[in-house]
Amino acid sequence: MPTPSALPSPDSLASAESVAGFDQVARADLQSFDELGAGIIEKQSVKLACCAGCSICCSLRVDVFAHEVFLIAHYIWSHFSPEELATLYTRLAAHEDRVLPLTPYEHATTNIRCPLLRDDGCCSVYAARPHSCRRHHSQDLAACQYTYDHPADLETPAAHHQELYYTLTEAMLQGFEKYAELGYDPTIYELGTAVAEALRDPTSWSRWRNGGHAFLHASVTPPA
Ligand code: SF4
Ligand code: SF4
Repeated sequence: MPTPSALPSPDSLASAESVAGFDQVARADLQSFDELGAGIIEKQSVKLACCAGCSICCSLRVDVFAHEVFLIAHYIWSHFSPEELATLYTRLAAHEDRVLPLTPYEHATTNIRCPLLRDDGCCSVYAARPHSCRRHHSQDLAACQYTYDHPADLETPAAHHQELYYTLTEAMLQGFEKYAELGYDPTIYELGTAVAEALRDPTSWSRWRNGGHAFLHASVTPPA
């Protein structure tokens, strides 16, 4: 596969140091993404209903790409205590049991709590959370509650700020296209089942680095 200019080479990624290199690139991407959103929020004086501990939206299905999953897996390995890991593995196993028998549509129309959500309503991987979670926002908490109370209603629009949402969506898609153009797995995975597999199967990383499908069992979302 082609060697990406902005990422560590496949050879160098065989070492722990190269994993750190990958994480550095991925984190820089996410920082730029956050700065883009923060700039619009400031310029347009966007009033968000979001605050720490508000997590109604963390029961939505979250779509991710493999490189986002690996950043989260590396974050978990380097930040979680053995007790936190044990709790997470239990949650991930329960999540797989619940999600894997469902079609993506069935999952998207069912409230299933993200296994990475802590009991206090905060994200356990906040610094490494994926683009979809960073893009998600609301100007009206009541709209989030409506979505939670009516999970099968996929037609009612979310209370997004239009410019913020569409600008971040465009930036997100451009970022994903960059990886796909470099020959990396373009599959859209479901967050929880993919994180479970990344933590359980270390060969997923080398498979991804070699241009293959990173995850063999995770739930996959068909392209729109
Ligand atoms: S999107 Fe809605 S549920 Fe999620 S943090 Fe914002 S206000 Fe809360
Ligand atoms: S990764 Fe974090 S922000 Fe995203 S759905 Fe899970 S708990 Fe919520």
